[in-house]
Amino acid sequence: MYTLACKDLDIVECEFVASGDSLRKVKDAMFAHARDEHPELIAGITDERHRELERMMEERAAFRSAA
Ligand SMILES: [Zn+2]
Repeated sequence: MYTLACKDLDIVECEFVASGDSLRKVKDAMFAHARDEHPELIAGITDERHRELERMMEERAAFRSAA
């Protein structure tokens, strides 16, 4: 299980934590959250910035083996 907190991205102070069994799902959940809760942060971002955010999410997502 991967988890990633919104605040791990150093963009906003926010307690949201995305989790999923793949990095893809965690990133999708985080982008969906950003669209809903922080639309100003991703409105009109460039493809380059989008990839940068994805890389940041991949680097900072924590893996925890399911018990
Ligand atoms: Zn957030």
